[in-house]
Amino acid sequence: MDNLNDGLARFQRDVFPAKADLFAHLASNHHPHTLFIGCSDARVVPELITGTEPGDLFVIRTAGNLVPAYSPEADGVAASIEYAVAVLGIKDVVICGHSACGAMTALAEGIDLSLAPAVSNWLRHADASQARTPIRGDVPRLVKENVLAQLANLATHPSVAKALAAGELNLHGWVYDIGSGSVEQLQGTGHQSTAAL
Ligand code: ZN
Repeated sequence: MDNLNDGLARFQRDVFPAKADLFAHLASNHHPHTLFIGCSDARVVPELITGTEPGDLFVIRTAGNLVPAYSPEADGVAASIEYAVAVLGIKDVVICGHSACGAMTALAEGIDLSLAPAVSNWLRHADASQARTPIRGDVPRLVKENVLAQLANLATHPSVAKALAAGELNLHGWVYDIGSGSVEQLQGTGHQSTAAL
């Protein structure tokens, strides 16, 4: 906790004053351009890897960057998606998987999750990801197929379906490599060029 308090002191002393105009603007404005859905993994930091500023990204992070398919029941992920798309009017959505993902590794390698029943249940939202992956144990392939499967889940949300039908929303699938900092942009999602970061 000392690290966090030291960091907070540095933020207030150095970072905040340097961006005082931006923070003054953000105090009464919230117009992010992109919904970034990433893994909760501590090594995947959306604003850092995209070079974005406070106010740019609306962020949802879940274990395995999973997006449950739409259900009318109360769901925090669904509510955040709907708010970003229907209320804030964001124009782009990135679902970002990553190398060495613990969630994908657990699935690919069939790790016993009987002591983590909530994790086990949550990972059922990757059933289609596993079904799309031909070779059991192939973590990199599962990471990619999972991003594509979660993009399909995302499109089942009414706010997303509506914006897609109106041509007002672009979906992008990324895989971030922790060791190199590179991003592979998956074919068939968003623009075809590889994002170089
Ligand atoms: Zn992960």
